[in-house]
Amino acid sequence: MSLDQRIVGFDLWQLALPVTTRRDHGIGSVEGACEIVVLRLTAEGGETGFGEASPWVVFTGSVEATYAALDRYLRPIVMSARVGDIAGIMAKAARAVAHCTEAKAALEAALLDLAGRISGVPVWALMGGKCRDSIPLSVSLANPDWQAEQALLHRITDDGVGIVKVKVGFTDHAFDVMRLETLRRDYPDLDVRIDFNQGLEVAEAMTRVIDLAGFNPSFIEQPVRAHQFAMMAQIRRALDVPLLADESVFGPEDAARAISEGIADGFSIKIMKSGGLRRAQEVARMAAANGLTAYGGDMFEAGLAHLAGAHMIAATPEITLGCEFYQAQHYLCEDILEDPFPSQGGKVTVPDGPGLGIRPDVAKLDHYDVRRA
Ligand SMILES: [Mg+2]
Repeated sequence: MSLDQRIVGFDLWQLALPVTTRRDHGIGSVEGACEIVVLRLTAEGGETGFGEASPWVVFTGSVEATYAALDRYLRPIVMSARVGDIAGIMAKAARAVAHCTEAKAALEAALLDLAGRISGVPVWALMGGKCRDSIPLSVSLANPDWQAEQALLHRITDDGVGIVKVKVGFTDHAFDVMRLETLRRDYPDLDVRIDFNQGLEVAEAMTRVIDLAGFNPSFIEQPVRAHQFAMMAQIRRALDVPLLADESVFGPEDAARAISEGIADGFSIKIMKSGGLRRAQEVARMAAANGLTAYGGDMFEAGLAHLAGAHMIAATPEITLGCEFYQAQHYLCEDILEDPFPSQGGKVTVPDGPGLGIRPDVAKLDHYDVRRA
């Protein structure tokens, strides 16, 4: 087995994975199903590597564009390439199709999974080695039915989850205040974070953000639209709690502008935004070099994307504020992995097996595939 082997197989599944509840965010809602694309690469010797693309149409892009990017524009770059040429393949991928960062993240994850399985080492070892064995887990509260959300809150706190992120700004301010009052009263030990997901209009943003800052969250995230850098900087100057940028910062190029314009005290880092695991590490290093914090965010993902994110964070000491890989266990009706995503006791345990450590169950991929249906 060698990294000189050529890649001879490139298979795609487009999945619609049923979810348990509706979830509302400033920029939009998710209901019914979570739509993802799964890529399987096969090397000459028969070894396989898997990667997941998890787009969200109001945030990063559509599942249709993701599928097309992989199928039409990235496939020719990958077929017959050597498994070990990951950096070279990803450099070509960056030029082959604009944007489509989720497709590129899936490709890099699959290449690293394949190279890791052929070499007998975990992906975190290919990313520079490990700085942590586990990652604190944050679970987001986004169900517009607050009564129903209490059941999730009970379940996760019973399991030892110590961090929650409250999704705010998708409806009236009183609803946000009520939920934060309840959390502070009934769960005084929780680390509470607040995320507006771009939900506020400029005219109302300053007063609503300052009011919720009174609940002393660990940070407040992305109150206004992604492109409103000046407003982000203005809000940051007015706040006495950290302001984080999520939708404003996809990759290192956005991070450079965000740092120079002083829009945030930290970044949400997601492989689906950055376009891969190594570019996510680059954003984290830029943040740390400029005195900013970072946490490992995610999209509406299944366990395969969570695994790629967990390996990246395991090898990235600059990401100090935990991760949000909760959907596989707490949101999807059924995940796609052969073994459950390793998350218990309020933390994600970093897998140590070769590649990403766990494979998807191909029978489940076939079952949820909307293109073969
Ligand atoms: Mg966010």
